[in-house]
Amino acid sequence: MGRPMKSPKRRKRFPCRCPECWEVAVRPTVIPYDAKFRRGGRVRKVRIPRLGVLKCSNCGEVLFGNEAGDQIDRAIKRAGF
Ligand SMILES: [Zn+2]
Repeated sequence: MGRPMKSPKRRKRFPCRCPECWEVAVRPTVIPYDAKFRRGGRVRKVRIPRLGVLKCSNCGEVLFGNEAGDQIDRAIKRAGF
């Protein structure tokens, strides 16, 4: 946080470009999230208090990467569904 960005890009992935507003302002963050899914013809909900997502600090767009998808899957399994 707040480090000067002098070094040439090594394997630095963030911030990356936002698909919504095209600002280079997307960084990993943690948000509380209610995952909704269908099971047995009904919509169920699982609360994930700390979901790792990517968020644009310019427009507020939230992006779900593979990691977030895995986390949601695990939370659903843990809830016993
Ligand atoms: Zn954006």
